Formats: sequence, C-alpha cells, structure tokens
Amino acid sequence: MSYPTQRGRRLRRTKGLRALARETRVAADQLVAPLFVHEGERSRQAIASLPGHARLTPDLAAEEAASLAGLGVGSVLLFGIPARKDAEGSAGWAEDGIVPRAIRAIKRRVPDLVVWADVCMCEYTDHGHCGILKGDEVDNDATLPLLARAAVAYARAGADVVAPSDMMDGRVAAIRAGLDRADCAHTAIVSYAVKYASAFYGPFREAAGSTPRAGDRRGYQMDGANVREALREAEGDVAEGADALIVKPGLPYLDVIRAVRERVTVPVAAYQVSGEYAMIHAAAERGWLDLERTMWETTLGLRRAGADLPPARARPSPATCSRARPR
Ligand SMILES: [Zn+2]
Repeated sequence: MSYPTQRGRRLRRTKGLRALARETRVAADQLVAPLFVHEGERSRQAIASLPGHARLTPDLAAEEAASLAGLGVGSVLLFGIPARKDAEGSAGWAEDGIVPRAIRAIKRRVPDLVVWADVCMCEYTDHGHCGILKGDEVDNDATLPLLARAAVAYARAGADVVAPSDMMDGRVAAIRAGLDRADCAHTAIVSYAVKYASAFYGPFREAAGSTPRAGDRRGYQMDGANVREALREAEGDVAEGADALIVKPGLPYLDVIRAVRERVTVPVAAYQVSGEYAMIHAAAERGWLDLERTMWETTLGLRRAGADLPPARARPSPATCSRARPR
C-alpha cells in the first residue's frame, strides 16, 4: 500500500498523535548524572569546559544530589579529585578518601538515590595512568588488587554500584571476588566494558586533573576502528560477573551500542562523554544550535541505538557491608 492511501503525515499532525506513535522515550530515572568531588567544605569550583558542572565538596555534592533526585534523576556517578596523588593512587582506595566521604554524605541526605562510584586509578596517580606503572607500561595484573580495594572502600561507604573504567583485563572478576570476600555481594558492578581511546575525553581530564604525564591510553583503551573487539570485551565482562555494561563515548559509537545490545542480555548504558557535552554547549553558546533540542535529540539517539541506560532502581545497600568496620 502506498500514497495516497498511506500518508505518513497523519500520525505526525498533532502533539498528541506524535506522542502516540513515539517508539523511544527517555525517562529521568534512567539518567546518571556525574558529580566531581574534591576536598574541603562549602567549596564549588566551576569547570570551564563543562558548563553547569563544578568540582564540589562532599557537603555540596549531597545538596546537588538532593536537587537532582528532586528532578527525578535516578543515579549519580562520583569521580574523586584527591588532595594528594602518588605513584600507586593510594587516595583512590583509602577508606576515608574523598569518594567514600561523598558517598556517605549523599546517602545520609538522599538514601534512595542510586549512587555509583567510578573505579579507576587515573584521578589518583601522579603519572595520570589508569593503573600502576612498571617502567613505561601499565602493569595490568599488579593493578587488579588495588582496583578491588577501591571498589570495597566505595561499597562499604554505601555505593550501590561500582563502575570500573580502567580497561585492565580481568578487573571485573577481581572486583567481584574482592566485594564478595568483604560481604558486599549485593553491590553491583557496571563495567565500562567498551571504552575507546577517544579525543572526546578532553574536558573530563581538565575536570579531574587526570591527563597522563607521559604517553597515552591506547595501550589499554580500545581502538576506535573496532566493533568485533567490543563484543569480545562485552561478553568477557559479563562472564566475569558484570551486572550491566557501559559503551563510551556515545554518539560516535551508536553502531557499537546496537551491536552490544543485540549480543548481551544485561542492561547496556551509553556514556555521553565530556567532549560530546562540551561540543553541544559550545555551539549553543554561539547561537549555532538550540541547546535543549540538541540535548534531547542526542540522548534519544543513544536510546534508539539500544542503550537502556542503567537499571532504574537498585536496592539501597544492606547494612552488612556498608556499616562494616574498615579492616
Ligand atoms: Zn582511568
């Protein structure tokens, strides 16, 4: 059947008809808002390349989390900026580090908000790499116990989800084993299974002060030309115990989101990274794009490609792990 019997415009005629025919929706409780936390009290440092975002102290992060929850946003994802960095990133796994303190502050203020903690070394190492170095190389296997230790510290502080973004091989299994040994069997792992070595991370590195001092991350992050490799990474992480996966960045990799969505049955989240966000804001500031419409269109594109974004709700952490005494 074709024109004039079939007229595509009939269901586009009014707002109500368009809503009726809409195939994809974005709900606020599927969104995860990133929060950058730093040391101190009542201090907010704007991040020039990420308009609307700031480095916040734990007290202000809790206020921000409460206002996000008030808007219906389902989750926040924490990134820590420590006062001191060292070769082993020890501030990343300290039980009283900046991220555990921010988690506790947020959970006291908004207990039902799902709190994710990013797990990586690059914000905490003085060399800026995502693992510890042996010569010029990132030592994969020596990094794993430190990642597990960080994940346990965040879980004990009350994180519902830990999200390893380091791209070391075997880290999901190492983190799962570490969490289970620490009585944190209920803490979910959402792994950045498919993380490309991307130019779009620039503004984040300004926000977190995590630019590598030497070299780059192509030795562990993925080559942007590959999609079959993304499927191996995704399947590998699910086999190691990941509860959900992230594909990062989002917009340049819509085909990868679709391919991963069709391969695994766990939820798949798309990460619209700092450069994607900054690009939209920069163009809108010049009056070249409509901020709101572009934001909706790009977010909808990620959903349409197959991203579930995260599960809408996770249970608050039971007391067994979050109240356990540090050991
Ligand atoms: Zn990293």
